[in-house]
Amino acid sequence: MLTGIHFLLSYKCDSECDHCFVYSSPQAKGTFTLDQMKKVFDELVKIETIEWVYFEGGEPFLFYPLMLEGIRVAHEMGFKIGIATNAYWATSEEDAELWLKPFRDLGLSDLSISDDEFHYEDKETSPAKHALDAAKRLGMAFSSICIDKPTVEEGVDKEHVKGKPVIGGGVVLRGRAVEKLVEGLPRRPWQEFRECPYEDLRNPERVHLDAYGNIHICQGLSMGNMWDVPLSEIVRQYDADLHPICRPLVNGGPALLAKEYGVPHGADYVDACHLCYLVRRALIDRFPQYLAPRSVYGLQ
Ligand code: SF4
Repeated sequence: MLTGIHFLLSYKCDSECDHCFVYSSPQAKGTFTLDQMKKVFDELVKIETIEWVYFEGGEPFLFYPLMLEGIRVAHEMGFKIGIATNAYWATSEEDAELWLKPFRDLGLSDLSISDDEFHYEDKETSPAKHALDAAKRLGMAFSSICIDKPTVEEGVDKEHVKGKPVIGGGVVLRGRAVEKLVEGLPRRPWQEFRECPYEDLRNPERVHLDAYGNIHICQGLSMGNMWDVPLSEIVRQYDADLHPICRPLVNGGPALLAKEYGVPHGADYVDACHLCYLVRRALIDRFPQYLAPRSVYGLQ
């Protein structure tokens, strides 16, 4: 049951982090218009099961007026609201309060702030610290997102690896992370990746929406385009077994996806997402409606 919608307000970001799984950067373009956002809200009502609306990116504070208006509408409609940000705007604790107070007054339920070595070297004086302190002073609900560089962890109790080395740090190997962070990490034979370990592709609880109309079940894996067919209809008709990419993924993971479409591949990969992402990228011209946008795969 779909309970959460995440607006990827834009792929534009002030930063260009190695671990970013949607290839955000200062050069990325595009955002929702207010009219498009309102159309999405109309569709959320038709879906009937949505409880949460998140605003993220890219960096959503680059589009502050649009986000503020979106949150005002979401608040009026009774949704729980969240924001994910890197807090670049928090030049001091006092200034951060100016940015945050309107959201506090609109009942923001979750403020997630990236506070890790990818974003800030000195955590004690970072904008993230200013934002976290300001949120605390304003009495807001907040959390910090801390992703570390990938590390090898031996013998960790994870069912799908059964004591073999796994990758720690919280990085997901999709998007730019595949280009920048996989070197030197231990690998396993491609045939072992027979399931998607992270997403419930049959019954997704949340999807991400971008300004191009894509409805992401996982980054770059789309249910369809909501500017072509209304969002509520796509969600209602979604069946993983009828989706050309999700069907093999739910029945045999990234290994089956590669096998079914005869995608040339290497002998081994770091994890399921590493293989999945590269196989999907190889299939992008064959399934442009479902593997989009190209920018999430680092392509023009
Ligand atoms: S990249 Fe593939 S295997 Fe990883 S979570 Fe997404 S759909 Fe699942």
